[in-house]
Amino acid sequence: MIDFKNLAKKYDTPLYVYDFDLIENNFKDLKEAFKARKSLICYAVKANSNLSVLKKLNSLGSGADCVSIGEIKRALLAGIPKYKIVFSGVGKKDSEIEEALKLDILFINLESEAEMLRVEEIARKLGKKARISIRVNPNIDPKTHPYISTGLHENKFGVEIDVAKRMYLKAHRSSFLEPVGIHFHIGSQLTELEPIKEASQIVADLTKSLIKIGIDIKFFDVGGGLGIKYKDEKTIKPYDYAQAIFSTLKGLDVTVVCEPGRFLVGNAGYFLTKVLYEKISGKKRFIIVDGGMNDLLRPSLYNAYHRVEVVGKKGDESLADVVGPVCESGDFFAKDRLLPKTEHNDLIVIYSAGAYGFVMSSNYNSRPRVAEVAIENKNDRIIRQRESFEDLIAKEVDFI
Ligand SMILES: *Cc1c(COP(=O)(O)O)cnc(C)c1O
Repeated sequence: MIDFKNLAKKYDTPLYVYDFDLIENNFKDLKEAFKARKSLICYAVKANSNLSVLKKLNSLGSGADCVSIGEIKRALLAGIPKYKIVFSGVGKKDSEIEEALKLDILFINLESEAEMLRVEEIARKLGKKARISIRVNPNIDPKTHPYISTGLHENKFGVEIDVAKRMYLKAHRSSFLEPVGIHFHIGSQLTELEPIKEASQIVADLTKSLIKIGIDIKFFDVGGGLGIKYKDEKTIKPYDYAQAIFSTLKGLDVTVVCEPGRFLVGNAGYFLTKVLYEKISGKKRFIIVDGGMNDLLRPSLYNAYHRVEVVGKKGDESLADVVGPVCESGDFFAKDRLLPKTEHNDLIVIYSAGAYGFVMSSNYNSRPRVAEVAIENKNDRIIRQRESFEDLIAKEVDFI
């Protein structure tokens, strides 16, 4: 049990708290599930890019799936070896491609023909051969929230099978490109196995046809997307996930790369916030807290559900919205929840805040970003300091 009250007292609120032991368990569960084949887990850095989180995952043998040069630099700084880093994302700047090639990472995931031309051109300029993988869009409905669905043709991600084939042939003939992998990622917070299996089968069939014509695909990158329990979702077991993918790979000698973000860190994170006061407006009861949408955006952005609990209080429950102080109607954490009567300085825990929490935070309303704390072996330590007013204005010039 985590002593939330003590942490709030020690580090103040709002505050992110991450349970590193749970991150370790999650990682080991997944690695174990993949043990029947060669595999590489490349943690999706975007889910939570704190350097201490990355360092922890590196110590467990994780690689990194990065979507910007900034994330690649974070991964390297945390000690993750370059040969375990992949670079994904639908739009990469020339300067990012150039740096990634110079850093000699494992491969770059390409998402369009135009992008491949840029990578080839930059590799030519550098006199290098760029290791690439192509993100195939298998046109599968992942049955998740439309904002985090990526595997349909209507989404901006990846290329159609026919385009992918054409690209592989071109890359194969190029002196500056080396196609080493194939990639798909159909969406996030996936809770059904069938769409993953279908997508994997489509991409595995394509892989076989590529290998037949001499294109040596070594890495089969299945993306991320494993869902977690926020409320009462049934989730996919890592073993079943791995088996579903393996069942599509018969006869293929490839290293399975997977890119989990949320699965590794989501449920290992807690957002702590204190009650400022309550107010009744018409029939509605509001609990106003010191954390806001700028600190944890998921409810506002996706209408995402997070479990909410008033620490140490029970009974006398009635429906309430938990809202922040930001000047937006969309600034809420929970709506119409049965919660006990609260008082000034009562502590509220928002669960499952480890993924897409702090990383999406902003300084909107001139609110300094909050501190992050790690718990490991029952010890807590600060891993990112609370920002100050001076941090907020540090880059602003020419105002005096
Ligand atoms: C976002 C993303 C991931 C991680 O998704 P999760 O749902 O957090 O596992 C992995 N790969 C790619 C390409 C992504 O865009």
